[in-house]
Amino acid sequence: MTRTTPIIAFLLCLASSVMAADSIKVMHLTGQSNKYHSWKNLGDAITQHLENAGIFEVDTVVSPALGEDMSEFSPNFGEYDVIVLNYDGAEWSEPTKAAFVSYVKNGGGLVTIHGTNNSFAYWPEFNEIIGLGGWGGAGLYDPPLYPGEPDKQASRDEKWGPRVYWHACGAVHDDSPGGTFHPPKHDFIITNRTPDHPIMRGLPEMWLQANDEVYSRLRGPAKNLTILATAYANQKLRGSSPHNEPMLFTVAYGKGRVFQTTLGHVGANDDANVPSVRSVGFIVTLQRGVEWAATGEVTQALPEDFPTAYETSVR
Ligand SMILES: [Zn+2]
Repeated sequence: MTRTTPIIAFLLCLASSVMAADSIKVMHLTGQSNKYHSWKNLGDAITQHLENAGIFEVDTVVSPALGEDMSEFSPNFGEYDVIVLNYDGAEWSEPTKAAFVSYVKNGGGLVTIHGTNNSFAYWPEFNEIIGLGGWGGAGLYDPPLYPGEPDKQASRDEKWGPRVYWHACGAVHDDSPGGTFHPPKHDFIITNRTPDHPIMRGLPEMWLQANDEVYSRLRGPAKNLTILATAYANQKLRGSSPHNEPMLFTVAYGKGRVFQTTLGHVGANDDANVPSVRSVGFIVTLQRGVEWAATGEVTQALPEDFPTAYETSVR
């Protein structure tokens, strides 16, 4: 029989309490997506990546399913350093929306992933918070959103604000008309545009993202938005944008830090092991973005398996 001596027990206890005090408290909020995505399988990948970083304590909060009553859904945002939003579906109650806005405005961190920017097209403060979003039309959901509200059926277009792309050495805000789109999934180059930002520091100038969607012509208020990285889709593919589209960006909203990654497509019939969310570039920028949104700093080192401009890297 082995015995833990009191002094060792004390040290173990001290170590675990120090670790708990130092961990960043993350709420991973999920539970709904449009009919082209799987919130569940993307969520499993997100949880694994955050836990593997070793600096986060992750609680997953699952909303009622799409079509169910949302009136009692009221997560306690204030208990967390950062909210990781993997949610695209029905609007929350007015008190929950107000609590969310107040949380971010007063300095809460927020990270949104891929199709989360399709959500809440008709919630103006959410559009301000995320800067740019895509799609969102009521018919993309099953059951459809906003039944009986004919003025809330359309997807995001120029009425939501400019599109933003990178040209020469800066961001261009373009008011020309059009909605959002993406070419078929493929491997594409990501270019680091703000190498002195904590999330991007030490990352190469260019790297490959494996088999993902290049979200294009996203629309929104785009205020206080900083582009961190862009992608130029394969021009041979139908539906490719002729511009360098923002893939990673931040928004300053009140005192809150918001990080958006447009990467991370997990289709309705995909599992959690698709290359898009196993791409080391997706994983590392997600882990760094969550730390930055929570604290304003990034302490995580760059792993050796980070992709190059010539070769994808998938874990
Ligand atoms: Zn997608």
